[in-house]
Amino acid sequence: MAVYVGVDLGATNIRAVVADSSATILGSATAETPRGPTGIAVTEAILDAIRAACGQAGVTPGTVTACGIGSIGPLDLAAGAVENPANLPDRIDRIPLTGPISKLLATEDVYLHNDTIAGVIGERFHSERNPDDMVYLTISSGIGAGVCVDGHVISGWDGNAGEVGHMTLDPHGFMTCGCGHDGHWEAYCSGNNIPRYAERLHAEDPIDTELAFDDPEFSAASIFDLAGDDEFADHVIDQLGHWNAMGVANIIHAYAPLVINVGGAVALNNPNLVLDPIRDRLDEMVMTNIPEVNLTELGDDVVVKGAVASALTGGTGDRSKL
Ligand SMILES: [Zn+2]
Repeated sequence: MAVYVGVDLGATNIRAVVADSSATILGSATAETPRGPTGIAVTEAILDAIRAACGQAGVTPGTVTACGIGSIGPLDLAAGAVENPANLPDRIDRIPLTGPISKLLATEDVYLHNDTIAGVIGERFHSERNPDDMVYLTISSGIGAGVCVDGHVISGWDGNAGEVGHMTLDPHGFMTCGCGHDGHWEAYCSGNNIPRYAERLHAEDPIDTELAFDDPEFSAASIFDLAGDDEFADHVIDQLGHWNAMGVANIIHAYAPLVINVGGAVALNNPNLVLDPIRDRLDEMVMTNIPEVNLTELGDDVVVKGAVASALTGGTGDRSKL
C-alpha cells in the first residue's frame, strides 16, 4: 500500500500525518514547535513527529512514497528551508526541511510550500469541482493567500507568492504593519492587529463603548462578542468589512478566481461577521466576475490536509494527477 506524509509546521505546533492514496489519515502526531536552541531542534521535532505518525500507521518511514509540507515562512525554496521565521525567537535562524525529511523518508518527492499555498492545494483537492482557478485566504494572526490560476499553484521563485496581507490598502497609512510599513491590510484586519486598530479608532472618536482597551484580556474576540450590542464595536466590524472587501476585490482583479475559500481563526470564529460584509460590498467594488466567497470546510486541518494533497498530486492539488 502506498502511503504519503503531510507536515504542518506552525509557529506554535507541528503536525505530521500519514495517509493512504485516498487521503484517508492512518496515523498522526503533534508536538509543540521548539523555541530553540537553533532551527535544527525544530527539524528534529518534525522528524520525530513523522516517525510517531508512521508508527501509529504501522509503516516504516523509508516506505513513504511522497511528502508535502505546509510551513510558516519566509521560505528559501532552493535550500528547502525556512529562513529567519518572523514568529519564532531570533535564535531560530534557519530550519532545514526538505533535505532531512527526504533522507528520513528515502524519497526525493518532498514538496515544500508556505502554509497558505498548502491551504489552496488542500482546498482545491477537497473541492467537489477541483477548480483550476481558486484562492485560499486566511484571516488569522496574519493575513495571506494561496492562489491557483489556470491550474498552476503560484509559488514565486522563492516560494513567497500570495503575501496579500502586505498589500497597501490605506495610502494614508493610519496603521503600521508588523513588517514596519504603513497601511497594509494585515495592520487593520489580522487577529493580532484588530485590537490595536479598534483602540486607535476610539482615540480618534471616543464614543461610549463597553470595550475595555486596557484590559489585558482585550482581544479581537472582545469586539466580535459585542456585535449588535455596542455601537462602537459595530463601527469597528464595519471598518474591518471595508478593508477586507477592498483586499478581496484586489485579489479578484489580480487573479480572476471562480471561488475564494476563507479560513483562519478570525474568519472561522466569526464567519458571518467577517464574510457577509465582504460579500455585500463586492458588487460595488469589482468590475469583473464576482466569485463565490465561502468559509473553508477544512477548518484547522486545512494546512495539513493540503500537505497530504500535495504529496498525492505532485504539489498541485489536481485530482487528475492522482
Ligand atoms: Zn506589512
